[in-house]
Amino acid sequence: MFWQELTTGIYPWDIHDEGIETILDNLQNLSGNNAAYMLALMHHEKRPLHANYYPHNPVRKRYIAEDSRCYFTIHEESYRHSRIKPLGSDREFLQGTDWLELFVNGLRRRGMKTGAEISHTPLDSERGLREFSDCLQRDVYGNTPKFGEYDIMTNQQLCWNSPDARDYVCAIAADLASHYDLDMIQTCSLPFNPGRLDYHSLLGVTLGGCFCKNCEREARRQGLDWDAIVRTVRGLADMVSQANIDAREDLLCLRQGDSSHTSFLIEYPELYQWLCFRARSFTAYLDQLCQTIHAANPRTEFRLNTCWKEGEMYGINLREAGKVVDSIRMMDYSEQTGDRDRVYNKDKWLMNVRRMVGEDKTIIAGIAPRHLATPELIKLGIRRVALAGADGLSFGFYDGACYENLRAIHEGMEEMGITLRK
Ligand SMILES: [Zn+2]
Repeated sequence: MFWQELTTGIYPWDIHDEGIETILDNLQNLSGNNAAYMLALMHHEKRPLHANYYPHNPVRKRYIAEDSRCYFTIHEESYRHSRIKPLGSDREFLQGTDWLELFVNGLRRRGMKTGAEISHTPLDSERGLREFSDCLQRDVYGNTPKFGEYDIMTNQQLCWNSPDARDYVCAIAADLASHYDLDMIQTCSLPFNPGRLDYHSLLGVTLGGCFCKNCEREARRQGLDWDAIVRTVRGLADMVSQANIDAREDLLCLRQGDSSHTSFLIEYPELYQWLCFRARSFTAYLDQLCQTIHAANPRTEFRLNTCWKEGEMYGINLREAGKVVDSIRMMDYSEQTGDRDRVYNKDKWLMNVRRMVGEDKTIIAGIAPRHLATPELIKLGIRRVALAGADGLSFGFYDGACYENLRAIHEGMEEMGITLRK
């Protein structure tokens, strides 16, 4: 079978530390990549993400990325109409180099396909808290929601009904598409905050976003009864978070039963209206972003990275979103858990996505040759997504993958008879 591409993400400090030629030698000779993308805007995160230390970085054991910085030349004219301006790096070793230009030139010399990613949080939390708090998501209590049990990303989750937030990310994408020779721009920005699904797999979403002024204005414009939505969601949020003694009793009652999700959606139609509203809002934002990229460079493909399996809890409706994006990347990193059953069942999420976006939409499956992944699990993962009709593969990530695992990707594809299209 033919796949369009084998790609992976490269960080600017990888290029600084290893050198672009060494990285591309490894991608071509070990894993057999015909494509790669660079993290053009990266969120605050430790690399490598799961293991303590890098397997093959010659300069450092690990690296903590700055909060939401750009690693390309910020062309100021691209942000004339954007209230929010992007930030470059404060670190000396990363300053003064256009890492994306260096990256793209290196790939093109070898005939490889190029891409750039705008990562989870386009805005840093410091400015989110101080200057742009009106662009951030709010929970039903008016607070900026946490992401899961962590305090990370709390003051930087942009609301996709905020025109300023949308214009900012669109300006970054237009800057990238118009100034760099890119085949693809990918985004994995956090859609809508999913609340606390660990409290309840559906009703926990009521602790998420968004209930900001921009959302209220847009919902009312669409004719929704916003006051009723807020009242219903607030009542459920109180219950799920045990906000008072009555709510706590209600939660006990709920937990002793086994009502289905469908039952709750029928019982609380305002909850369903709100979930649909969030998904419509995110699709409209993706549509604007995709059109902006195509206007800046018709050759640049726009790819949505579907980061979380329960996309509907994050405001993603792939049946609609799939109509406005060019391709889908899946962030299925089962191999890194070392759990064979999870890897064997990788095809389920892929089939969900395929059912929603249709036969003709390009789906680039995900795989993780890092942390607890072994060559056997990598080959099994490739086998499962290949048989489930993936159109390509994107692995997370070069920086955390030992050479043995990079080789296993090439071997796994060869054993399945997969050839990359020229
Ligand atoms: Zn909002």
